[in-house]
Amino acid sequence: MIEFCGVQKTYTTGNASITALQRIDLKVNEGEIFGVIGHSGAGKSTLIRLINLLERPTEGTVKVSGVDLMALSENDLRQFRQHVGMIFQHFNLLGSMTVAENIAYAMRIVGQKSAQAIDARVDELLELVGLSKHKHKYPRQLSGGEKQRVGIARALSNHPTVLLCDEATSALDPQTTHSILQLLRRINETLKLTIVLITHEMDVIRTVCDRVAVIDGGRIVEEGAVTQVFLHP
Ligand code: ADP
Ligand code: ADP
Repeated sequence: MIEFCGVQKTYTTGNASITALQRIDLKVNEGEIFGVIGHSGAGKSTLIRLINLLERPTEGTVKVSGVDLMALSENDLRQFRQHVGMIFQHFNLLGSMTVAENIAYAMRIVGQKSAQAIDARVDELLELVGLSKHKHKYPRQLSGGEKQRVGIARALSNHPTVLLCDEATSALDPQTTHSILQLLRRINETLKLTIVLITHEMDVIRTVCDRVAVIDGGRIVEEGAVTQVFLHP
């Protein structure tokens, strides 16, 4: 589903350069929840940004569904991005828009659906994440967990095949974290959606991931089934 082959990423600013990732080889299987864990600065965000081409690799290839992302034209790239949904630590909702408008906006940008079809899809998504009652509220009227549910609905709006989660529960309390992880698991199972999740929290990996890669100093230092990598619960 997702394949990294000999990936290196070096950031150059002025005459200083930092190699954020080195010789990364990684395979994420279709339908699994794959976790990437590591300390701050380990290279997790870079890894996730390479999957939706917010960054390009300095060396090596990143493939999603067999497609080499670097080989895509600008136009194909725009199309491709619809296959990748993303949720964020700080939710990244637009404060001037209601819940429904935040979700609809993501679909309007793609521009393939009528207003009516968009509204029907918004209702369907709100039902899926359990927020139907809050359709016309603004983000500031919602709890952190509710905001992340909106983020999830928005990320799913264009029927992605992969959902990327960038520290998606790091701003939430343990109970809310648990309910969001349960929702992610349910979505993974019912929609057969592949999920890649980055976190610095071991508990998140243990609760929800099938496989995990441990990243340190830009290298993968361990990889395997969660039950193998973390023997002690
Ligand atoms: P993590 O998500 O694990 O905290 P990052 O991928 O954000 O790690 O960062 C890995 C390394 O790359 C860090 O040393 C960071 O400072 C550096 N880095 C990340 N983004 C940039 C950037 N846009 N420009 C320069 N250096 C960056
Ligand atoms: P942080 O607050 O730690 O920067 P975020 O989760 O808010 O983390 O953002 C992670 C990365 O995703 C950032 O590099 C940001 O530029 C990028 N980003 C933010 N919003 C969007 C968006 N709507 N679509 C794509 N990328 C985004």
